[in-house]
Amino acid sequence: MKVLGLLIAVLLAGPMPAHGAGAAKISRPKVVELLQGELVEVKVTGDDLAAVEGRMGSERIYFYPNGASGFGALVGVDVEAKPGLAKLVLKLTNRIGTYSRREIKFKFKAKAFRKESFNVPPDFDQMTPEVLEEIRRERELFARAFAAPVPERLWEPPFIRPVPHEASASSFGSRRIINGTPRAPHSGTDLSSPDGTEVLATNHGRVVLVGNFFFAGGSVVLDHGGGLFTMYFHLSEFKVEEGALVKKGDVLALSGATGRVTGAHLHWGARLANARIDPLELLSKVSTSSENSREVKTITNTTEK
Ligand SMILES: [Zn+2]
Repeated sequence: MKVLGLLIAVLLAGPMPAHGAGAAKISRPKVVELLQGELVEVKVTGDDLAAVEGRMGSERIYFYPNGASGFGALVGVDVEAKPGLAKLVLKLTNRIGTYSRREIKFKFKAKAFRKESFNVPPDFDQMTPEVLEEIRRERELFARAFAAPVPERLWEPPFIRPVPHEASASSFGSRRIINGTPRAPHSGTDLSSPDGTEVLATNHGRVVLVGNFFFAGGSVVLDHGGGLFTMYFHLSEFKVEEGALVKKGDVLALSGATGRVTGAHLHWGARLANARIDPLELLSKVSTSSENSREVKTITNTTEK
């Protein structure tokens, strides 16, 4: 596995011309190919660079200072992104305030996700008015938690596993058939962890949601800034409150089997500029720097469920 294979660098040689034409030198793949659920770290460098703003479709892509003369951003592809071409549009501003526009082309490709079929107690499938109301409340609270991301990057590389277990083969994206009916794809990865395991913050962030929900059970959502959120579901006990600032490795909760589950595990999810991505991508693709990329660990597949 090429650890930094998906890092893109846009290099700007010398001062940018006043009207964005001519002298800037750009080095990057012509089209960046990514599968559904993957992420890539985009780095833009240039001696004269003062700010970078990014946009992909209707989503803002937040850039953060990276090194002495550069900026970086994480770009993710939603689990259900339509295969095809997409553009990351960059507005680069230099020190005297003139700007130029750049584009990075992406090709989103369909991933062959696993198919799973399982049954849950019929109670979970009977949508009484009370249950429907609870699901509506759940959706609303999650939408509210995602609505106003902290713009500054709070996280620092690397990301850490929320539970110590060497789990799991990524179950992210599985197309699920529950009680015989096809459902939405699995938007996280299930990490096997016995009831009562300490669940750690994968990185620094702000706690934006703590609650008990029909599907997700006991849930904690962290805002890591720059459009990145991580989620921890099926928890049995909370150790943090909404609004708290947490550090990487802080205990958020204890794992459990609450919500719609077939057994104790931690459901770990990640959301980047509203794209539901595989959280294991944070462990494998976000480097501390090119010098110590050896620290980026590869993922070992083990079975789960
Ligand atoms: Zn799950």
